[in-house]
Formats: sequence, structure tokens, C-alpha cells
Amino acid sequence: MGRFKPNRLLYRQIIFTIFAFLIMVALSYAFMSNIVQGYLVQNADNVLSYLQTHINAELIDPMINLKCISRTVRAMIIRGDSAESINEYFYDLSGDLTNNGVYHASYNGIFGYFETFKDAPLFIEDFYWDRENFIPAERPWYHNAVAAGGNIAETLSYADIVNGKTVLIFSICIYDDDGERLGVVGLRILIDILGKEVVDTALVQHGYGMLVSHDLKMMAHPNRDFVGRYLNDPVIPVSIFAQDLQNGTEILRKPILSYKKEISVTFFRKLSNGWYLGLVTPKDYFLQPVINMALILCFLGVTLALILILIFIKIDVEKNKSHEESRQKSVFLANMSHEMRTPLNAIIGLSELLLEDRKLSEDVYLNLAKINNAGTTLLSTVNDILDISKIEAGRLELRPAEYDIPSLINDAVTQSVMRIGEKPIRFILNINEDLPAALFGDDLRIKQIINNLLSNAFKYTMEGTVELSVRCEKDSGMEDAVWLIIQVSDTGIGIHSDDLDNLFSDYIQVKNYSTRKIEGTGLGLPISKKIAEMTGGGITVQSEYGKGSVFTARVLQKKITDAVIGPNTVQNLKEFRYSENKRIMNSQRVRLQLPYARVLIVDDVDINCDVARGMMIPYGMQVDCAASGQEAVDLIRSENVKYNAIFMDHMMPGMDGIEAVRIIRHEIGTEYAKNIPIIALTANAIIGAEGMFLGSGFQAYISKPIEVERLDSVIREFIRNRELENGL
Ligand code: ADP
Repeated sequence: MGRFKPNRLLYRQIIFTIFAFLIMVALSYAFMSNIVQGYLVQNADNVLSYLQTHINAELIDPMINLKCISRTVRAMIIRGDSAESINEYFYDLSGDLTNNGVYHASYNGIFGYFETFKDAPLFIEDFYWDRENFIPAERPWYHNAVAAGGNIAETLSYADIVNGKTVLIFSICIYDDDGERLGVVGLRILIDILGKEVVDTALVQHGYGMLVSHDLKMMAHPNRDFVGRYLNDPVIPVSIFAQDLQNGTEILRKPILSYKKEISVTFFRKLSNGWYLGLVTPKDYFLQPVINMALILCFLGVTLALILILIFIKIDVEKNKSHEESRQKSVFLANMSHEMRTPLNAIIGLSELLLEDRKLSEDVYLNLAKINNAGTTLLSTVNDILDISKIEAGRLELRPAEYDIPSLINDAVTQSVMRIGEKPIRFILNINEDLPAALFGDDLRIKQIINNLLSNAFKYTMEGTVELSVRCEKDSGMEDAVWLIIQVSDTGIGIHSDDLDNLFSDYIQVKNYSTRKIEGTGLGLPISKKIAEMTGGGITVQSEYGKGSVFTARVLQKKITDAVIGPNTVQNLKEFRYSENKRIMNSQRVRLQLPYARVLIVDDVDINCDVARGMMIPYGMQVDCAASGQEAVDLIRSENVKYNAIFMDHMMPGMDGIEAVRIIRHEIGTEYAKNIPIIALTANAIIGAEGMFLGSGFQAYISKPIEVERLDSVIREFIRNRELENGL
């Protein structure tokens, strides 16, 4: 009981949970990763902008200074100052620039070459030059200045001959008023300082920076080996972008393996002077928080998913357990019903047989009637318990068939009206002659509703009237459907308004506020309501405590004929003398006489055989009993006696009824064995029993306790032989 048996639903729930959490983790990761990538781009952009501004600021001052200096030098030359004066000026300037705190770091010297100065070319320099081999007019800074006209020219020198550092020379050509070239003034700047700042600034951001000249030479890089090399040199990782940079393609968040072998992304920006500023940022640094978050999410997701799956499993186990329990309950109820029906069969059947005896004294008759009544009440309780358990298991079924309305009303009234007993109650039957003569539906279940409402009315009414009205209403939506409306009103004890809501709840017998406890299980109304609801209708109640109640049941039925019951039937039904007691009804029953018939009853319980035999004897038939399935099989096989029908009990020890029928039908194989009518007699009122019997070789099915009417109709259908009767 309660074993863990995973089913498809559980598997689906588990797979769904796992998927849901996987998707949650994946989406969160993607979302966060997007944010971080955005942040990375933003951050790179900020760093590049900062460096760009910084570089521009660093370069603009020397350029302005150079312009001013070149103007002063030009003025001195035109004025005819001596070489010494100009030399002195350069010397002073050099001292100022290199000693001045602000410029000290990047200014590296000032010089000039004036080839047309007075008689001989004048070269002024502030530090050591190799004068022997040095021809200023052939230096790149000189050419560049001449080529640039009056503008500042830029010349890069790597591993400068003097101090081995990377140097940038700004140079400018000066002219006299006639446009004749006077010479070139130059300013040396140490790029290493600026480069280091670029490299360092980026380093603070967990990456590194680089500075590339307009002709794609590396000016600054944390790896000094790369400085001075062309960018397309394959030893430099960013060499893969050299072509793109040359083509002017933007390098934005491009993946790269940094020179430190870290997975990184690269950004490049072109500066206004044609240089390129590069930034390399390791991916891990930025992605690490996302990866951490994804790990935490995964952990949380797995934990939550596991918890959820455990909950699902637990629910499933509980569900299996309760299914199993409810299955066991059903089995128990079926067994109980069987066990109770067998003795009830004897009580009701035998007392009924005895009641038919007209020679009984009044005393014995009354006592027998009480026994019969008690048995019937007990049987209806057993039936109610079975019904409610079927409802709980969702297995209550309607078996629709064509039925007569007058018989339905007659049967229902006959069964309930006994309950009036000695009470001064007037029963009124209110029906119209235009009621349909027949309908299609489950008449037994509708009879059950009428019986329940009527017997309640008789039970809870001490005096006054009980009225049953039956009418039909067309259904506006469906062509062939009609509403059968059954209304039972009484002048009984009524129901307290507080109790009205609970009336249809299972097992509730509301307080009657009367000193006398009235028998009942509280199951009748919930069952009736469920039956009405299964047809598409329902039951409503109006009641005033102390004055009486009105119950209205609406059931949806199929219309099959336009014929109506007519005035005569109405009259007959209304005039039916309900006060006539059972004795008169039973004793007046006219039984067919079938002396030509011989039937076999098969039942392992003697008393059941006695009851059945007692009920069949009045038909003038010869009735034999067999105590087991095997005995019945032997009797049919021997063909010593040819029976007209067999009444076969279902549950018997050893060979049960179903097995016995299988052997008779299939193993014996004679025409007689194949065709003899076999009727099931069963105390086991399980669901689907009828279908099971009909599919197992039985012709019909009678449940125990045997109802006289049912037995009568079976005998008429399967045993009566009109040809024989006519021939007799
Ligand atoms: P039972 O009658 O077997 O107890 P029912 O389900 O048929 O069970 O009825 C439930 C309860 O409703 C009854 O116990 C009774 O208190 C109340 N009841 C039903 N019908 C009437 C009625 N006609 N008048 C007063 N009370 C009623």
C-alpha cells in the first residue's frame, strides 16, 4: 500500500520542472550577461574617451610652445641677432622647459637648424649630438617640417640615439617675409611617459592599453618588446586587426587572446592626430560576477527543482495511497453488500412468500410484515451505501432505456406509500393527462429519486398532506429533450434555514429538533441530487421550519413519442387504492402457470435456493437445486433431465458461476448446452455487473434479494413457451 509507482503524469511534472528551472537559469544568465557586456562596452568607451582627452591635452601644449618659440626665433634672425644670442635663448628655454615642474616629464629638449643663417648654417642643440655624421638637413624631422610648409610636423623616433627612449619630435619651418626658408625649429617629447599613462590607466581597469602611430607602429604597450614594431607583426596579438584599422573599420568588443594569454576583448579608437588608442580587457574579469551568479542560480534552481520534485513524488505517493485505499474500500463495500444481501435475501424473500399465505393469523401476519419491512429498510440502506461509494469513486452510471411514465409513477408511489403507516396523512397525486406516455432515460434511478423524496415526506410528516406532482417541460435548447419535473411537498416538520445548505452533503442527517430520532442515513438526498445532476438537472428545496417542505427535482430525459398518458390513465393512477396492503397486492398477483417447465437453481447457500424455489413454485414449475457450479455442469452434461432454464449464482466456492457457464457453453458443446437460457443470480451489486454477465454467456441478470416483478418478467421472457401453452 502506498508504494511509489511513478506514473506518466509524475514523469511529465518532473520533466516540466527540470525544464522550467533550466530555462530560468539560462534566461537569467543570458540577461545578466547582456547587462555585463553592455557595461563592458560602456566602460571601455569611458576609458578610451578619458585617454583621448588626456593625450590631446598632453600634446597640445608642446605644439603651442613650439609655435611661440619658432616665432621668437624667426624675429631674432630677421632682426639680425647673433648666433650667440639665439644659442643663449635656446639654452634658457631648454632650462625652463626641463626644469619646469609641469612639463619636466615629457619635454626632452629643443633644437634648431638654420641653414641660411648669415654666412654659415647654424645648428643649435641642447644635448650631445654626433656632429661628425650628423647632417641635420637629412633628418626626417627636417624633411617633414619642410614638407609641412608652415605647419607643425610630427616625427617618431624609437630607441632614440641619445637615451634609447621613444621620442616624438614636433618640428616647424620658419620663413622670412619673402617666403624664403630660414630654417627649422624642433621640440623633443618623450612618448614613454604618455605611453605609460595609457598603459597604466587601462591596467587599473584590469586590462591594458596601447598607443599606435598613424603609420601603425606600436608606440606604447605593456610588453616593451612590441614597442617600435609594426602592428601587422604576428608576434603582436592585435596584429589580426592591423588590416581593419588601416581600412578604417571599427574594432569594438572583438575577441582576442591577450599577450598574457587571457581570453579578452579589444577596442580601438582613432585619435584626431591619426594615432590609434587600443584597449584590451580580459573577459573573465567582467564575466566572473555573471558566472558566479549563474552558479548560484544553478545551485538554487537545482535545490528548488529537487524540492518541487520531492513534493510531486510525495503527492503522487499520497494519491496512490488514497487510490489504493479507495479501491480497497470499494472492494470491501462490494463484499459487505454481498454478505448482507445473502441473509437479506432470505429475510425478505421468505417473509414475502409467507405473507402470501392467506391462512395466516393477524398476529403472525403483522409480525411477518414487520420482518419484511425491516429487511426492506436494511436493503435500501445497503443500496444507499453502495451508491454513495460509487459516486465517490466517480463510477455511478446511468443506464438509459425506454420506459413508461405511468408504470414509473405507479411503482414509485406503491413502494413509498407504505411508510404512511398509521399516520393521518392524505396523499395527493397531481399529474396531468398531457404527460408523455413514455420517455428515454434511467427509470430505476428516477424511481430512486421519487422514492427518496416521497419516503422522506412520509417520514418527516406526522399529519396533514403529502403531494407528488409530476409534469414535463420542453427544453428550449434541445429538440428531443424534455425536463421531467418531480415535486414533493409536505406539511411536515420542515427544515431549519441554517440546515438547508447542508442538506445535500454526504452522511449529514440534519437536526430535526424533535425529541424522536427518525431513522435514516442522510445519504438519500445527496444520491438523488447526484443522479439528477448526472442527467443535467438538479434538486432544489424550499422549507419553513415547522410548516413543511417542497423538494423539486428536475431531470433531463429524451423524448421518444408524442403520445400522452391521457385521462383514463390519470384517473387510474389517482384512484389506485394505495391503502391496500401488501398482503392483498401480493396475494392478488396472478402467476403464469408453466407446468411444462423445469428449472435448475444453482446456489451454494441452501437458504438462497429455498427462497428462489419458493418464489418459482407458484408458477407451477418443477424446480431443482444444485449446490455448486460443478454439480450444475455435470447435470447439464449428463442430459438426464432437460431443463428449460438455469438460475446461476455468481459467487460460489470452487467453480464460480462464470466458470460454470463458460464450461456449459463452450466445453460441453451440445446444442442444448449452447442454447439453454442461463440467468445470473447475484448478491454482488458491483458496477458494470450486467455487461459482465451478458458478455459471459448469461441471458439475463437478477440481483438478490430477488424482486418478484423482475423474476416474473424474466420467467415470461425466457421460460414461457406460448406454443406449448397453445398446444396444451
Ligand atoms: P435520511 O432521510 O436517510 O436521513 P436524506 O438524505 O434523505 O437522509 O435526508 C437528509 C436529511 O434531510 C434528513 O435527515 C432530514 O433531516 C432532512 N429532510 C429530508 N427530507 C425532509 C422533509 N421532507 N422534511 C423535513 N426534513 C427533511
